[in-house]
Amino acid sequence: MKREGLILILSAPSGAGKTSLCRELFKIFPDMKESVSYTTRAPRAGEVEGEAYHFVTHEVFDGMVEEDAFAEWAEVHGNKYGTALRTLEEARKNGIDLVLDIDCQGALRLKEQFEGGVYVFIMPPSMEELRRRLEGRSSDAQEVIERRIARAADEIREARWYDYIIFNDDFEVACRELAAIVIAHRRKTFRMMEKVVKLFDI
Ligand code: 5GP
Repeated sequence: MKREGLILILSAPSGAGKTSLCRELFKIFPDMKESVSYTTRAPRAGEVEGEAYHFVTHEVFDGMVEEDAFAEWAEVHGNKYGTALRTLEEARKNGIDLVLDIDCQGALRLKEQFEGGVYVFIMPPSMEELRRRLEGRSSDAQEVIERRIARAADEIREARWYDYIIFNDDFEVACRELAAIVIAHRRKTFRMMEKVVKLFDI
């Protein structure tokens, strides 16, 4: 009996602090792996193929859609992003706990089509704080910020169908809460039985 890998899906409006929380999660659980999505967006400075993403052309992406290679895909900020079904199936089969950082549309498609994922929505403390955080990122133009804020309001409405909601007002607390969710799902009986059977020969 092989332990089934955990598929943890994280979504958040841009500015909610998901990237920092993810980074901390991998520090707490170094054996968790990040799912590498496919995207049509161009690599940013320092991004390496196969690490954050598989960077592909529109033709390759559309071909994968045709072949039903994606467990979910969505268009985000004008680019396409998708999670390969194979990535999920292999991790699950090999007992690897996988983290998916995907947007709400993709997460909903996945929930409808793929059984057993754990869905966590990261909330910003408030709309005012979200605006403050987005404006603090000097790199973004005002128009981009306004678009992100409008999108954030739409995304927050989607939080209702997630399994868990974490408010990221206190980063330490948010990390602990996210870790607690992971631990609870790791301790599910069906994930522990492999160890029990091995140790006690039952
Ligand atoms: P970025 O281009 O900044 O890396 O990501 C932009 C957005 O795309 C983020 O909200 C992220 O959650 C989302 N995203 C990344 N990979 C996937 C994916 O495979 N599927 C979906 N649906 N969204 C993704």
